[in-house]
Amino acid sequence: MDISTTCIHGCKKKFDTTGSVATPIFASATFAHPGVGQSTGFDYSRSLNPTNVHLEDTVAALEGGTDAISFSSGMAAVSTLMELFSPGDHIIASDDLYGGTFRLFERVSHKNGVNFSYAATPKDMEKEISKSTKAIFLETPSNPMMHVIDIAAVAEIAKKHNLLFIVDNTFLTPYFQKPFSLGADIVLHSGTKYLGGHNDTLSGFLVVKNDELLEKLRFIAKTTGGCLSPFDAFLIIRGIKTLAIRMERGQETAQKIVNWLLEQSAVKKVYYPGLKEHPDYEISKRQTSGFGGMISFSVQNEQTAIKILESVKVIKYAESLGGVESLITYPMLQTHADLPESDRRARGIDECLLRLSVGLEAADDLISDLKQALGN
Ligand SMILES: *Cc1c(COP(=O)(O)O)cnc(C)c1O
Repeated sequence: MDISTTCIHGCKKKFDTTGSVATPIFASATFAHPGVGQSTGFDYSRSLNPTNVHLEDTVAALEGGTDAISFSSGMAAVSTLMELFSPGDHIIASDDLYGGTFRLFERVSHKNGVNFSYAATPKDMEKEISKSTKAIFLETPSNPMMHVIDIAAVAEIAKKHNLLFIVDNTFLTPYFQKPFSLGADIVLHSGTKYLGGHNDTLSGFLVVKNDELLEKLRFIAKTTGGCLSPFDAFLIIRGIKTLAIRMERGQETAQKIVNWLLEQSAVKKVYYPGLKEHPDYEISKRQTSGFGGMISFSVQNEQTAIKILESVKVIKYAESLGGVESLITYPMLQTHADLPESDRRARGIDECLLRLSVGLEAADDLISDLKQALGN
């Protein structure tokens, strides 16, 4: 089945008998038991809810996993994942990470005794492996610098050293990138972004392809309680139905904007994995079926960056990404504000860097907006 059909009909289970084409919202916290020691399969919505199961099955089908667990946010999913580890455990992560994930690792998980190392390439990741290493955590393309890491190469290292291999697939979604087919054990999503796609709902997912891991994670999830509301699950189900056309259109417009940005003298550098000049272009072409709708770019100076942020009209100056509305962010002050300044600068996240999430407005309108914001 083509992925665009899976987006719409990914869940095979039916939980009502009316023929309702849209998935009903099962707004029930609890479920009555038919008899003592019996269950309909649903007991309490912190563990399982039929609307959420519909969504989870759809996300699992899209990623090619056996099951998925839904959460109230992407960070709730990462927090649950961290409960797999114990004091003394060590995790290797890609070095250009979503700021919230970095903050969780360094300010919360580290306090609980889990240690982290960061590296940018599979080779450097392997060098960080020690006796206490338990997992590798990867984000590719990375946020905000758009580095691309060879997923299959990292999977090979993880397998050789018996490490759990986790990939955050928020940026490209299964529409453009399938981490399981490249060797991942767990795929993570902030469903707030492209999966939901409308900048109106938070959600997160852990997708697995192994029953033992699923059982462990479901146990932690129902115990720690970061579950998704069935009302929000409904919105994410609806969002996913159009994932395929949104990803296609977002990418098409992003490419037009990239070409325009490259011609602007005030723009010093454009970071987009679909550019032939991008250092990871070849890896990107090999492991993904598209380059996505996220662009980072550096302008000539801080004043220009601030002017763009304060002058855009169609594009909104706001955090987040992957929705129908185009958003521009200032990683230095927003998503990556918690990174120590020296680390941030070493990664190229400075006062000149902007990140653009291309939405579904007409390309010409977005380019006109950037043009007037640049003052030409
Ligand atoms: C936004 C984001 C997260 C966190 O998700 P929330 O839904 O905001 O909690 C994690 N990883 C990436 C790559 C993200 O963009």
